[in-house]
Amino acid sequence: MSSTRPQRLLLASIHDVSPRFEAEVDRLVDLLAPHVGKRLAMLVVPNHWGDAPIVPGSAFAARLRDWAEQGVEMFLHGFTHRDDARYSGAGDRLKAGFMTAGEGEFLGLSQSEAEARIARGRDLVEDVIGRPIDGFVAPAWLYGPGAREALSRSAIPLAEDHMRVWSPASGAELAWGPVITWASRTRMRLLSSLIAAAALRHAPLNVLRIGVHPPDVRHPALLRSIGRTFTAARRHRRPARYGDLLS
Ligand SMILES: [Zn+2]
Repeated sequence: MSSTRPQRLLLASIHDVSPRFEAEVDRLVDLLAPHVGKRLAMLVVPNHWGDAPIVPGSAFAARLRDWAEQGVEMFLHGFTHRDDARYSGAGDRLKAGFMTAGEGEFLGLSQSEAEARIARGRDLVEDVIGRPIDGFVAPAWLYGPGAREALSRSAIPLAEDHMRVWSPASGAELAWGPVITWASRTRMRLLSSLIAAAALRHAPLNVLRIGVHPPDVRHPALLRSIGRTFTAARRHRRPARYGDLLS
């Protein structure tokens, strides 16, 4: 290898950062630290499922600010994370209650509702961290047309879905390639995510994204796979920030 820094990048993110998952987020920060230090993005949910609000002035808010000051990038990650928009109109909240598997909060939103949630979430997170957010990621990486339109008007510098990172303002694609992530809701999903991670960590992508979630910490096989994936990725990549894609 040459003495210059590797050109290929590694971008790490922790999803679903919320007071609900504080212990899990701590474990994930510790897990990633040997590989990327604080070069990671946190995807922050202002009020997870509508009952885990981030309260300005709270201990959790102070921790978020602390992480931001240590260089962690802060992304807005929906508002409640839960897809209840399409069921709220006809007083069908009860029905929505039976369908909580849907985590794609921004999939069915109108442009005005998406704009309102982005504005509210952004105000809250920026108030807490004391600086502008670095980007937006829709829950489950699912964007409906309303969400995409709202985002393009928002002046938020970066967004990502499962396959790419782009600039909402210009539409320019900044990185391409599937993000490596793990699923644990069923044994079959867990096994297939282990197989996908083992293959994708060697993919010759310019930018490799790895995203971890709070439930990951409950599964030892999954934690081993995360460790191996970062170790393999670090051999030929340098940990970077999403913001580096803009320079
Ligand atoms: Zn999420």
